[in-house]
Order: sequence, then C-alpha cells, then structure tokens
Amino acid sequence: MHEMSLAEGILQIVEETARTHGAAEVRAVILEIGALSHVEEQALRFCFDAVTRGTVAEGARLDVLPVPGVAWCMPCGESVPLARLGDACPRCGSYQLQVVGGTEMKVREVEVA
Ligand SMILES: [Zn+2]
Repeated sequence: MHEMSLAEGILQIVEETARTHGAAEVRAVILEIGALSHVEEQALRFCFDAVTRGTVAEGARLDVLPVPGVAWCMPCGESVPLARLGDACPRCGSYQLQVVGGTEMKVREVEVA
C-alpha cells in the first residue's frame, strides 16, 4: 500500500515544520491531491492516523484539497480538463493527450499550535 509511505513522507514534513516553529502540537495538515495522482484519500487518512500516533501530529486534522487533472491536447492545441487517466479529450475525443497537471500529492500547509 503506497499510501503508507506517502503518510510517512507527510509526517516527516509535518515534524520538521513543527520543529522549525517550536510547536508542541499540530492542529491541521492541508494536502493537495491531484485527480490523477493514484492516491486513495480514505487509505491515506487511515495511514496518516496510524503513523502520527504518538507524534506531535497525533489527532491533527487532515484537510484534502482536490486538484483537477489537466492534459495538453495535441489536436485542440490547448490544455483541457482530465478527470481520469485514460480518458479522452472532453472537447474533441482524441487520446493524444499529455498529462500536465493533477498528478501530484503535496503538503500545502501545516497549522501548528
Ligand atoms: Zn482535444
């Protein structure tokens, strides 16, 4: 389950941020998850709860901001929204798409107390 290693990566960033701010508690972690990132939100939440147990981030709220997928369509010659990998261009129906956005998961903000 790759969500476990993602959760561990998030925890590292959160602990570093808490240390930098001399914070004793983390209130919330705000994540951006791309629609094309293959990250299962429910699984990630479960793993986050598991890895933060006993750490400064225990009990922190996990907020997820969805980031839409974006692809460059060759025939259209412009960026188009893409809901899922493997979908056709919503404008012209072409599959000549190059994914350009929405594939990442990143920590956007860490709220410390
Ligand atoms: Zn197109």
